[in-house]
Amino acid sequence: MPVEKTIVVLGAGINGAAVARELALSGVGVIIVDGGDIAAGTTAWSTRLIHGGLRYLEYGEIGLVRESLVERNRLVKLAAHLVRPLPFYLPVEGRWGGMWAAAARLAGWEVLARAWRGRRGRGSWTVGMGLALYDLLAAGAGWPRHRLVRAGHTGMPQIDTTVFPRAALYSDAQMLFPERFTVELLVDARGIAAAAGTRFEVCTHRRVEVGRDGMITIGGLSDRSSLEVRPDAVVNATGAWVDRTLDALCADTAGDVGRRLIGGTKGSHLVVRHASLRAALADHGIYAEAADGRPVFVLPFGPELVLVGTTDIPFSGDPAEARADEAEIAYLLAAVARLFPTAAVARDHVQQHYCGVRPLPNDAGNPQSPAGVTRRHLLVRHDEAPWLLWSIVGGKLTTCRSLAETTAATVLGALGMPVRGTSRERPLPGNCAGAARDADVLECRRLAEEAGLPRGRATAVAEHAVGLFGTRASALWPREGGPVSAPHGGLIRGVGLPTAAVAFCLREEWAATLDDLIERRLMLSFHERLSREALTDVAESMSSAGALPRDRVAEAVDGCVARLKERYGRIVPDSISWSDDDDGTIQGSQR
Ligand SMILES: Cc1cc2nc3c(=O)[nH]c(=O)nc-3n(C[C@H](O)[C@H](O)[C@H](O)COP(=O)(O)OP(=O)(O)OC[C@H]3O[C@@H](n4cnc5c(N)ncnc54)[C@H](O)[C@@H]3O)c2cc1C
Repeated sequence: MPVEKTIVVLGAGINGAAVARELALSGVGVIIVDGGDIAAGTTAWSTRLIHGGLRYLEYGEIGLVRESLVERNRLVKLAAHLVRPLPFYLPVEGRWGGMWAAAARLAGWEVLARAWRGRRGRGSWTVGMGLALYDLLAAGAGWPRHRLVRAGHTGMPQIDTTVFPRAALYSDAQMLFPERFTVELLVDARGIAAAAGTRFEVCTHRRVEVGRDGMITIGGLSDRSSLEVRPDAVVNATGAWVDRTLDALCADTAGDVGRRLIGGTKGSHLVVRHASLRAALADHGIYAEAADGRPVFVLPFGPELVLVGTTDIPFSGDPAEARADEAEIAYLLAAVARLFPTAAVARDHVQQHYCGVRPLPNDAGNPQSPAGVTRRHLLVRHDEAPWLLWSIVGGKLTTCRSLAETTAATVLGALGMPVRGTSRERPLPGNCAGAARDADVLECRRLAEEAGLPRGRATAVAEHAVGLFGTRASALWPREGGPVSAPHGGLIRGVGLPTAAVAFCLREEWAATLDDLIERRLMLSFHERLSREALTDVAESMSSAGALPRDRVAEAVDGCVARLKERYGRIVPDSISWSDDDDGTIQGSQR
């Protein structure tokens, strides 16, 4: 009987989780460790697009765009509950603008490109050529081809037509909650390992220490337990923290550890609550240029909110400390005002903001142009560690699966093992679309009605639950008949999810803290009607499930309110106007 190999993956962001799953598919043992929670890093601070990356064409990144488009097309099929196609308008001012700049950029002359950008940005010819190539690279997948349209085109967002007389209409995709996608990658990996009888462990909120003999100790931060393992290989998938992790892993060795792999840039986003801006978008995304030529996305974010991003500013501090500053907020609001001057979107309409650091390859030769640094990922092998060790540098949400495939093949090859399976055609556990999704909604509605909700409200709750958990949503309701007599119909007040979802996430999805539940499982941190009451319902449900002492509920809620203010600039009210007839189901329900 061959001895099972064990691979430690450090970092449970989208890339680490995808690598762990890919390795599990080939029958190796996997332990994935995160210093915080699953998807608590850059994965949660992104623009949430699954896209080819139109603008990378100007930088000659044809291979990356092709790979991204292939992956985009896969993910809308394999994770249909979380990734949905989104039509985009790209407004243009003139016809010819940007030709010379694009040519200079393609030739690698970024300084000239910026000098030649011109006052009016890219014109319809430049955009049309780029989109024709984009269509060609996505060919065969049945997505609509782009079209150039005049202002006033039916269904078009109400962009300022005096400035933007034309626009290009094209398609990409949006993943509202990469946090949930990442959790599901790990849920799937756990199932794969269980079926194969191989080891699979997810250790969150843990710190890793390396002994001189190469023994790795995964220490508990919240409890005192620890796990010791001598891995066959380690994959450093800690994103923007890659260099810090390497320093810690290889502290006792010399070599090229001093070489910086990451040259991060920070990007900020606004979540705007403004009914007429949301209505003006008409369920389309906008991809525009800000006044300085930087790309800006204005995106529907659920039925009531709008997501605006992003900035691109060199950042060398601790990625966990990156915050959107007032200058960035003003810059993004100005970009919105340029597109929708009559909407009068102001600082008060910003419900919250967030900021993340792109784990870009260190491109010291190109310090002037963060936008021009490649978005391709690299796999870097290190010789200084007691085990085989690789670091993942860069990457996008969109290419997490293909990145995982090449990483797993490299690691397995070095261990002399075959690739036994791939995720190319493998749906996520919650995947559902069309009639299957309708059936899931009906089943959840039945459970919600059994729990005492009237039909209309039960339907809305079911839609919300399926939007977040896909086909797994029916497991959120307690089996033993439902909380007919539970307070507030067994729902988290104001947000329309069953309180029993808390126990599900604790039991099935490695949630450990109130923040994990609010920010990365139930996605309430973005919910319009989040209140202290809702936080209390979640904390009390944690307590009922034995995950929080009853006398610590108030303290946990206070801590969560403080964190939401500090991290997102979000002010959580004590309560919101809410009634038992209120469905509270806004975020997360997407068809
Ligand atoms: C502003 C912005 C917008 C973006 N928009 C998009 C987009 O629209 N589409 C797209 O495809 N891509 C986008 N990206 C890129 C994408 O978000 C990232 O490339 C991707 O999320 C990186 O994932 P990751 O798993 O490598 O890193 P992370 O998600 O950062 O995960 C790394 C994990 O490592 C953990 N960690 C750190 N140190 C240690 C340690 N020592 N031990 C254990 N764990 C540790 C962290 O807690 C974290 O959970 C965007 C990025 C940014 C910043």
